[in-house]
Amino acid sequence: MGKSKQCGNHKGDKKKNISKTWKTKRRTKDLDQIHTDMRPDQAAKLLKQDVDYDVTGSAQHYCLHCARYFVDLKAMKEHFKTKIHKKRLKQLREEPYTQEEAERAAGMGSYIPHKKVEVHTQAVEEDMD
Ligand SMILES: [Zn+2]
Repeated sequence: MGKSKQCGNHKGDKKKNISKTWKTKRRTKDLDQIHTDMRPDQAAKLLKQDVDYDVTGSAQHYCLHCARYFVDLKAMKEHFKTKIHKKRLKQLREEPYTQEEAERAAGMGSYIPHKKVEVHTQAVEEDMD
């Protein structure tokens, strides 16, 4: 065995961008509120908000599922790739389960399976310029 060959695929440059783990401010909406926001009419309004300079990114880049604003499209797209966002989509796939619903199902003797909803990251409009 001689010298180990230097193979040129050094996979040491994975970006680990967890430099700032800021404390989560509990300002986000409840999941059931977000379910409401996900209704197409509501979603359309939220995704096309008027310019508001008091809001991050002038309220032009809003993640519907996390109820968060981003400074620009790039920041929002980066956010879509994060665990936080993916975890949120997963949470939102489960429809809110109420006690009432459970009792009704039990009373009728037939269990209605929990509806799974498809939740996808909202489409982003790519700026072509
Ligand atoms: Zn998100």
